[in-house]
Amino acid sequence: MERRGKIYEGKAKILYETDDPDLVIQYFKDEATAFDAKKRGIIERKGVYNNRISSVLFEYLSKQRVRTHFVKQLSEREMLVKRLEIIKIEVVVRNLSAGSLSKRLGLEEGIPLAEPVVEFFYKNDALGDPMINEDHIRLLNLATPQEVTAIRKRALLVNELLREFLDARDVILVDFKLEYGRHHGQLLLGDEITPDGCRLWDKKTLEKMDKDRFRRDLGKIEEAYQEVYRRICGEAA
Ligand code: 5GP
Repeated sequence: MERRGKIYEGKAKILYETDDPDLVIQYFKDEATAFDAKKRGIIERKGVYNNRISSVLFEYLSKQRVRTHFVKQLSEREMLVKRLEIIKIEVVVRNLSAGSLSKRLGLEEGIPLAEPVVEFFYKNDALGDPMINEDHIRLLNLATPQEVTAIRKRALLVNELLREFLDARDVILVDFKLEYGRHHGQLLLGDEITPDGCRLWDKKTLEKMDKDRFRRDLGKIEEAYQEVYRRICGEAA
C-alpha cells in the first residue's frame, strides 16, 4: 500500500491517503507535546515503539471482537487503518486517581477507584480540550445519544481487556484516552493506544512508564517507552 497525499499532520502522527479511499496510513513521529503544545520535545524512536505497541494492542482487541480501525502494521512507523469520520470527543477511562482527576477533585494520585470512571473531553485545541458531559455533546451535536451510550459501554470493555492484558505484563493501567469515529456508519475505535495517551505504572515499583515522564521532566523517557515496548510486544527494542 503506497502513501499518497498528506491528509493531516497532528502532534504525534501524520495521516496519508492511499489508493483506496477507505484506507489511510498513520505515520508515527518522534515529536512529543504537552500542555496544549506549550511543551515540545523529541522522544527518540517513540514513533517506532508507539506504532508497534498500538498494533499489538489493536490486534489483541480485535481478537476479543472489539471493532477498531486497525488493518495492519505496514512498516516500523506506518500503520494501515480504515478511514474514519472522527468524533470530536476524547474518552478517558480511569482506574486509579491521577492527573486532571486528582487536580479537579483534590485527590492524592494512585488511589484505586471503586468503579472505573469515564469522562468526556471536547477535542478542540483552541479551547484546550475542555471536559464536557452528555448534554454538552448533544448541544454541540458531536455524537448521537445512542453513539454516546455505545462509546461508554465499549470504552469500559476496552478498559477491562487492556487491564487484564497489561496486568499479566506487570503493568497497572491507571487511565487512558480513546477516540472513536464512523466508517460507513459503523462506530470504530480509532487513533492509537500508546504510552502517549495512557498512564502505565510498574506493578511492583509504581514507577511511571508513560508520557508523564516527559510532561513532568522525570527523565529516563526513552527507557520507559522501550520497557513498555518490551513488555507488550515481547521483543527487545
Ligand atoms: P488527564 O485528564 O488526567 O490529563 O489525562 C487522562 C488520560 O488521558 C491520561 O492517560 C492522558 O495520557 C490521556 N490524555 C488526555 N488528554 C490527552 C491528549 O490530548 N493527548 C494524549 N495523547 N493523551 C491524552
